[in-house]
Amino acid sequence: MLWPVTPYGVWAQKPSSDYPITAVPLTSVTINDSFWKPRMERNRTVTIPHIFNQNETTSRIDNFLKAAKKKPGEYQGQRYNDTDVYKSLEAASYTLAVTKDVNLDRKVDELIAIVAAAQEPDGYLYTPRTVDPQKPAPGAGPERWSYLHTSHELYDMGHMIEAAVAHHQATGKRNFLDVAIKAANLIANVFGGGKRRDVPGHQEIELALVKLYRVTRDEKYLLTAKFFLDERGKTHNVEHATFEPGNRFFMYNDRSYRQDHLPVVEQARATGHAVRATYMFSAITDVAALFNDTRFGNAVEALFNDITSKRIYLTGGLGSSGATEAFGDDYALPNERAYAETCASIGGILWYQRMFQRTGEVKYIDILERTLYNGYLSGVSLSGDRFFYQNPLESDGKRAPAERSAYFDVACCPANLARLMAQLPSLVYAQREDEIFINQYIGSEARLTVGGMPLTLTQTTSYPWDGHVVMRVDAAKPVEATLAIRIPGWSRGEAMPTDLYRFAPSRATTTGRLTLNGKPVSGVETDGYIRLRRTWQRGDAVTLDLPMPVRRVLANDAVEDDRGRSAIQRGPVVYAVEAIDNGGKVTGMTIPLSTLLTATYDKSLLGGVTVIRGRGITAIPYFAWNNRGRGEMATWIPY
Ligand SMILES: [Zn+2]
Repeated sequence: MLWPVTPYGVWAQKPSSDYPITAVPLTSVTINDSFWKPRMERNRTVTIPHIFNQNETTSRIDNFLKAAKKKPGEYQGQRYNDTDVYKSLEAASYTLAVTKDVNLDRKVDELIAIVAAAQEPDGYLYTPRTVDPQKPAPGAGPERWSYLHTSHELYDMGHMIEAAVAHHQATGKRNFLDVAIKAANLIANVFGGGKRRDVPGHQEIELALVKLYRVTRDEKYLLTAKFFLDERGKTHNVEHATFEPGNRFFMYNDRSYRQDHLPVVEQARATGHAVRATYMFSAITDVAALFNDTRFGNAVEALFNDITSKRIYLTGGLGSSGATEAFGDDYALPNERAYAETCASIGGILWYQRMFQRTGEVKYIDILERTLYNGYLSGVSLSGDRFFYQNPLESDGKRAPAERSAYFDVACCPANLARLMAQLPSLVYAQREDEIFINQYIGSEARLTVGGMPLTLTQTTSYPWDGHVVMRVDAAKPVEATLAIRIPGWSRGEAMPTDLYRFAPSRATTTGRLTLNGKPVSGVETDGYIRLRRTWQRGDAVTLDLPMPVRRVLANDAVEDDRGRSAIQRGPVVYAVEAIDNGGKVTGMTIPLSTLLTATYDKSLLGGVTVIRGRGITAIPYFAWNNRGRGEMATWIPY
């Protein structure tokens, strides 16, 4: 049977304590706009098949077949390559939840059968060891769980569990879920108080076990998730400081690299590997909601404030230190050397959504939107089959990553990107009893239940190119409800909820206008939302007009790379100048703050984008750079 589709992230049920705000699940939202719908279609028809194919041609599938003794040979590749298979299955599952695709469904079942065959009888599922336990992959450790900080065993199984939960929710089938339950039972038997006390080097298992708890209601998964968080930063943890001679895993000796230097409730500064961090912050937020634990809640709020004050790019990119894929020093945000891994943007988006659902605060959705339209979307080409791992804010067109790649040796980003694109419908609306949050302006239809009554909310807009949004309410009978209409940070004159970035003064009108059935509404914006409470009649229409002037953005003086420079933003979209539009180069370009910049929609350029032009400059959306070959690119331009 299908479990009730519900709250956080994509779906789930509501236990006694949980997020007070639930996401309207992806099965209740149909995106039908001209910006995201074609991208979601491309994700289904190009990106996911491309990743499936890459996983086959790069031995990632073979590793499962070898572990199942269906094929001879050694394990190939990195010890975390199993996750590329799992994340692509998760992406495909979300797609199957909303689109009938018989071929994809069959392909997914074939892959699940291969994964299941690689599982050992007691539930252990980690092909880097199972292929040849006498000669496990480098970093995997000589025995099960022996190199927990480098092995990625629990990371691999975490992604497997997340994928299995998604597949079960999408299809109602148990073929993958049963594999996940078997592995999770083993993990819960091995780890815990009075058992093995240690933590994984790469967080992921924590949030995965919370998801498994939500579909099974088996509390041991939730308690094991909390155990892994509670154990972090404890001194009794075994230090796996010595690895194979000449090992490449030096950074694992630094406990802050894996956020294991302090108990999680005492971590107030974001440190270490950015993807690990965002996955862990997501799990901490889950636990804060499910256990109503304010210490966990306070910790993630402090970490969010730290990140948005000192460690986030204007694109939403996280992690500025390339050597260790990590958060950098205060205000260390280099543009050309920006790491800003696509996965860190994705981890951030999934975390910000949880933070919103716990607090209802708009700042989390503002940063989510900023990340979605910039640092996340830059990760994939317009063709859907080329990817950035790093997302620098400047390029000389030569130094890597000067262009997107078909795949990677470490290929975490492509499938991660695909699974986020596939679950996008669950990020548009949210609900708290009879209060409906419109968080993202994306043309769509949402099928809701308010006070036991079905209600359909239809949104029509050309966002992010235009701030005109029409929201139509349809219900069989009049329904009393509150529409919480988000006024985005960029429209409130706030580039960032901190002083890290600010808009340069402008004389342009930025005040929005709201009408109900054609008449002005004197809605008061509080905490980033205008709340309209009334008894809604069939056909009621709310129109929001958000002026979208071209804005110049300035960074805090402490950010060395941005000093004397400004960036361009319009609506939620950050702009970049590319050599191809600017006489072959962008170095040496200067744009005084007084330069008049105008915006024009060009349907023939880059799949249809709004272009910004001024004297001697043409700028395109940052996310669309490098779709016309290599060349110089810059986002922060001297003024
Ligand atoms: Zn990645």
